Amino acid sequence: MIRTVSMDEISDGKLYGLNDMVKAGCEDCKGCSACCHGMGTSIVLDPYDLYRLMLGTSMTAQQLLGTHLELNVVDGIIQPNLKMAGDEECCTFLDGAGRCSIHAYRPGICRLFPLGRYYEDGSFRYFLQVHECRKENRTKVKVRKWIDTPDAARYETFIRDWHYFLKDLQAKTTPQNAKEISMDVLTRFYFTPYQPDQDFYEQFQARLRETAQARNK
Ligand code: SF4
Ligand code: SF4
Repeated sequence: MIRTVSMDEISDGKLYGLNDMVKAGCEDCKGCSACCHGMGTSIVLDPYDLYRLMLGTSMTAQQLLGTHLELNVVDGIIQPNLKMAGDEECCTFLDGAGRCSIHAYRPGICRLFPLGRYYEDGSFRYFLQVHECRKENRTKVKVRKWIDTPDAARYETFIRDWHYFLKDLQAKTTPQNAKEISMDVLTRFYFTPYQPDQDFYEQFQARLRETAQARNK
């Protein structure tokens, strides 16, 4: 989800890379689940998030959509997000003890928080959202460790390519073609299963190439 806010207001004014230390450590969120409530539609899943979630829960995309996820328009294109439910607008993966029941395969936005991504010049870096996490006296942690994702460099390439692919599509979206573009994105990148015994990133890149070829015909 693209936000246009002043970095001076929401961050400490610094940008971070994978090997930088950042004050994001919150003692494993002990006793707090604030950012698992009331997040509206903002925890948007990318294709890797859904792939990881499907593997971890052994549920299909359709089963997840009927329970834990919903579809919404994000910057002009329909994408899945975590559903918030009940009076407390609670993520449906939060367990009775206030802990994440899918910690090992939680989405990238949950792994990042309270970091965000700042996109610029065809790439991105991380920034610290200083008003978001409620824990005081946060400790310094390496960004690479914080995002807790294997093969971090390849993951970053995927994140960058997905962001700029969507941005390019958004620029081409009109009221006439919006539905067709969204259905193509959902079908091609989310709902057509990725083979778990093959490299996810290679399969994703192949789908990007197929889309480019289909659009150039
Ligand atoms: S997936 Fe886990 S960490 Fe993310 S909002 Fe839900 S309960 Fe919280
Ligand atoms: S507000 Fe901070 S401490 Fe609380 S759940 Fe979110 S990241 Fe963890």
